[in-house]
Amino acid sequence: MKIVLASSNKHKVQEINDIVATYDLSEKIKFILPPSEFDPIENGKTFEENSYIKAKAAWELSKTWVLADDSGLCIDSLDGKPGIYSARYADTPELRIERVLKELDGTENRNAHFTCAMTLINPKGEVEYAYQGICNGTIIDAPRGENGFGYDPIFLVNGYTKTMAELSEEEKNNVSHRSVALRKIVEYIKSNLKG
Ligand code: IMP
Repeated sequence: MKIVLASSNKHKVQEINDIVATYDLSEKIKFILPPSEFDPIENGKTFEENSYIKAKAAWELSKTWVLADDSGLCIDSLDGKPGIYSARYADTPELRIERVLKELDGTENRNAHFTCAMTLINPKGEVEYAYQGICNGTIIDAPRGENGFGYDPIFLVNGYTKTMAELSEEEKNNVSHRSVALRKIVEYIKSNLKG
């Protein structure tokens, strides 16, 4: 089964492929990239809406199975920011982290979560299944670690002493918001879409 992955973020595509590679799939799922014209305008108000917008845009171009993901970091004491603006919170990943740390300066409540909204669209263009995965944690004072991407260096996963950027690929893929959502999608495909 070939599924167009409605994403142009190579880190996310890599993580999704790595997670799927750990499954024993009776029918193989192979993710392929969307056509080069894929460039949706993410103007939804929620992760779910943006995930749907991306999925639908990739479907319009491919008319086949599509999986889209929209994700971001939500910080409790910043009223859920950067949220859907995570990728656009400043010009570079380093500046985005800097902005978050500045906004949290002196704040005691550092609770946060990563969210990942996934939408699976079938070849008829209908939403076949959608799920939102969450990973809870806290924001530390200064970046730590070299792995992963985005806000990983300042996100301490609940129950761990390491930031997401200090976790190995395998450890991150066990706990991440993306793996929680993807697990559900794969389970759905395995039990509902035989052959
Ligand atoms: P999207 O490509 O519109 O889903 O934007 C996602 C943005 O949220 C990324 O550019 C990152 O800044 C942030 N983000 C999402 N998932 C992760 C993650 O697993 N680690 C760190 N940052 C993430």
